[in-house]
Amino acid sequence: DGTIKFEDVHFAYDANRPILKGISFEVPAGKSVAIVGPSGAGKSTLSRLLFRFYDVQSGAITIDGHDIRNVTQKSLRAAIGMVPQDTVLFNDTLAYNIRYGRPDASQEEVLKAAELAQIGNFIRTVPEGFDAMVGERGLKLSGGEKQRVAIARTILKAPPVLILDEATSALDTATEQEIQDSLDEVSKGRTTLVIAHRLSTVIKCDEIIVLRDGLIAERGRHAELMTLKDGLYAK
Ligand code: ADP
Ligand code: ADP
Repeated sequence: DGTIKFEDVHFAYDANRPILKGISFEVPAGKSVAIVGPSGAGKSTLSRLLFRFYDVQSGAITIDGHDIRNVTQKSLRAAIGMVPQDTVLFNDTLAYNIRYGRPDASQEEVLKAAELAQIGNFIRTVPEGFDAMVGERGLKLSGGEKQRVAIARTILKAPPVLILDEATSALDTATEQEIQDSLDEVSKGRTTLVIAHRLSTVIKCDEIIVLRDGLIAERGRHAELMTLKDGLYAK
């Protein structure tokens, strides 16, 4: 389970400037759908609506057939995991940061998640660093390492629904590829909504939706979109 449906969703932050003008798509349980489009197209707005930071003005968003307006914040947060663009970490141990969202997790589970996110060795070989994540006593983590912490956290939480919001866009190319591999691993078998600037990062998604001017301009698999001559936002 974990099927997400956007049904004719309309939304505006300001009444006179609509951002989403009737968006309908489905992310079937266990599948991945990517939203691409130029900056300002409304991609992140979709994820904010899914978390109910804002509510749709008309239409509906459902998870497994339940309108999210009828779901408690608590269960919504439990159901959805997100790997954001820039991971802000708590100034606390790596374990604390990974365990956040699942405080009941055992030491062993935390370590396993860290290993899957490829920071397991890091935990073991740099014992000093983890008393303070950042700051004088601690280790300053790179952008890629922070992303791995976010990924480990998500692996541990194991939510049925996953949002990857431009999760690799702040990274250099080499790191981006490594993180992408970890993200592919996390999203395997989960309902995943990927928000991306570039088509090249969403090749593996089951469907790609191109958002433009508040509407779905194109949709299809990567190979299908690549055959379009024009009207496609791609780099
Ligand atoms: P994207 O993620 O595709 O870059 P966003 O969903 O972040 O786009 O934003 C879509 C549009 O909505 C942009 O023009 C942005 O400036 C505007 N916007 C985003 N958040 C707010 C807000 N809280 N209040 C008003 N306008 C907003
Ligand atoms: P993201 O993590 O996707 O960048 P942000 O919340 O930082 O999301 O905002 C995305 C876009 O929306 C940015 O362009 C930002 O300037 C714009 N935005 C955010 N909040 C507001 C707001 N209150 N009024 C106008 N624009 C906003």
